[in-house]
Amino acid sequence: MQIPSYVKTAIEMLNKSGYECYLVGGCVRDMLMGNLPHDYDLTTSARPEQMQQAFADCKVIETGIKHGTLTLLTEGGGVEITTYRIDGDYKDNRRPESVSFTPNLSEDLARRDFTVNAMAMDADGNLIDLYNGKSDIAAKVIRCVGEPEKRFNEDGLRIMRALRFAAVLGFTIHDKTAAAIRSLSHLLASISAERVREELFKLICGAAAESVITQFAEVILPFLPQIAKEGLTQFARQIDELPPMLEVRLAALYALFSDEMGLATAMSRLKTSNKQKKSAVDCCRIITAPPTDATQTAYTLGSVGESDFNLYLTAARLCGKNITPTRQILAALKERGACYTVSQLAVTGNDLISEGIAKGKGVGETLNLLFTAVAEGKVKNEKQSLLQYLKADC
Ligand code: ATP
Ligand code: MG
Repeated sequence: MQIPSYVKTAIEMLNKSGYECYLVGGCVRDMLMGNLPHDYDLTTSARPEQMQQAFADCKVIETGIKHGTLTLLTEGGGVEITTYRIDGDYKDNRRPESVSFTPNLSEDLARRDFTVNAMAMDADGNLIDLYNGKSDIAAKVIRCVGEPEKRFNEDGLRIMRALRFAAVLGFTIHDKTAAAIRSLSHLLASISAERVREELFKLICGAAAESVITQFAEVILPFLPQIAKEGLTQFARQIDELPPMLEVRLAALYALFSDEMGLATAMSRLKTSNKQKKSAVDCCRIITAPPTDATQTAYTLGSVGESDFNLYLTAARLCGKNITPTRQILAALKERGACYTVSQLAVTGNDLISEGIAKGKGVGETLNLLFTAVAEGKVKNEKQSLLQYLKADC
């Protein structure tokens, strides 16, 4: 696999200024696996101010200058460049409070989490592989750099990262690393919800999620309130049938083995966005009970939109639910041109008031009544028809 020219140029600019610079981490791993890296991280002996000098004529963003990181903006995209670093003291099994710079690449590689993430590559494609990452890639193994227990005690998040890489790359976890994960999983309790969430969500969507969830259910369960171990392992067996979409997979887990309240609790604790939480809960509700009457179906369509509704119905089918009645109602609704939200009705609350048909609380109730009548095909969504329908009905 070729190093893109814009990345090569960045490395060569630092080299010309007298500094070492290498590709490092995920991009090296991905290239060796024959996968296209989603971004390219560089590591350099240049200190931040020396990088700024070397790139004086270029566009840079001081992404994390205190930690030695800047982003070089090139025609090919942003390239993140970080000074060789040694992590400072780790407090409470979390990220180090401070970092210090080092002139030695080997020290920078030693701080990295797994052998497959601890390789560097120069601009000509020569590999620096001090921890046998290449052979671990060939053997498909996730293994800590150094003593697993020490490394997890330094940063508990690495436990979740190990599971994530195993699930996404389809790797197994080396025995000693796996044993340390099991005995130290309590460390995850002190890691921020956001950091755990990022790894957990990638894990759940990973190609090898089944085996990782099955083998490490106890590690994951504390983040899935109201889910029992048997439920989780049973779910793991069918996870591959579901699309690799976080909201859908979590929704299916809770629909099958808990309920939508449990799901909402899980997502709140993981501090997901309200949007993501709503999507998952909508999906969970549809999987639990695909709507079977026209009003409910029309409301659901209005609330989740057509494409998500179809996706969630597919998920419901994959979870063994009969979705044929809902699909039929949907088709009928579309044919009839029914509205999907009350605001799409051809009459407004003000119309009802000015016509003297309703007032106060009655306005909303009447609009809902009209919405149902339109959904059920009793009246057309046209102003005169709706008003006549109300007058005849009253
Ligand atoms: P991805 O393809 O998901 O981006 P990645 O390996 O690039 O995978 P990042 O989270 O982007 O993962 O981290 C970049 C690199 O930084 C890793 O490859 C690893 O070398 C190092 N790293 C990241 N997080 C940690 C950590 N918690 N402990 C030690 N090293 C880490
Ligand atoms: Mg990365």
